[in-house]
Amino acid sequence: MSRLPGRLVLLGHPVAHSLSPRFQNAALRAAGIPLRYEALDVAPDALTATLDELARQGASGNVTIPHKEAVAALCVRRSALADRCGAVNTFWHEDGALVGDNTDVGGVDAIATALLGQARSTAQVALLGAGGSAAAVMAAAERWGSARVRVYSRTMDRARALASRFAALVDVVSSMDAALDGATLVVNATPVGLHDDDFPVPVERMPSGAAVFDLVYRTGETAWVRAARNAGHRAADGEGMLVEQGALSFERWFGIEPDRNAMWSALHN
Ligand code: NAP
Repeated sequence: MSRLPGRLVLLGHPVAHSLSPRFQNAALRAAGIPLRYEALDVAPDALTATLDELARQGASGNVTIPHKEAVAALCVRRSALADRCGAVNTFWHEDGALVGDNTDVGGVDAIATALLGQARSTAQVALLGAGGSAAAVMAAAERWGSARVRVYSRTMDRARALASRFAALVDVVSSMDAALDGATLVVNATPVGLHDDDFPVPVERMPSGAAVFDLVYRTGETAWVRAARNAGHRAADGEGMLVEQGALSFERWFGIEPDRNAMWSALHN
């Protein structure tokens, strides 16, 4: 195992803090690593000072809303995927220098594979939303072979700006129906359904046979995922992506695979 970090933290807004400490601490216990994963509420104007302190402590960790892009800009070195996404969700220090990676992309890969299997390589993706997690979906789909993405978002300029970075596979469309036409995978990368039972897409408008991937996660799954599955669609909410991105972060920090069963048990027992 690589040298232990001085501290292991999650930097972000409190609302995004609920699950990661549970499964990361379970993974640390299962591996016998004497560290505790701590959530730190960091306001944007305190980010630079917090990172300076974490550099002195030789810390590693995760980054979540609203700091992923800011941390990417502050890294001395970034992985190719972090560059592609313009966002860092995993960091560590090498000789005092801040290094960043993006394991959200691997989290998307894992769920898309579970939903589509080999058909992932020719996926026609209807992508709703054009923020940071939509960038991770595009960066993932770019590596699947001949997958194509149609993105629909309420702020068209933001969708166009993001899509222009992935022009080889992404088209911006001006209606949800145009995004859904012929889709084999429908992805919600908006917060719709996070705080209520709203659906990003009415289930009756989903293409027959399309799989559903809701990046949003809630206890007992999102209402949209439950309804889509009841209508015969393969469907997954964002919990699997969250655990997988966390597992991949653990591998970056410690150079070993975490016990994923321990991580899942910590969430469901
Ligand atoms: P973000 O950067 O803020 O982008 C959100 C996108 O959704 C923007 O395109 C935004 O459009 C759109 N949007 C916001 N509210 C909307 C609404 N009421 N109706 C339609 N579109 C709306 O957020 P993000 O980081 O991409 O995260 C999006 C969601 O994914 C969050 O709910 C988050 O919990 C989830 N997520 C899950 C994981 C995971 O591991 N499972 C990882 C990352 C994110 P505008 O530009 O018009 O505001």
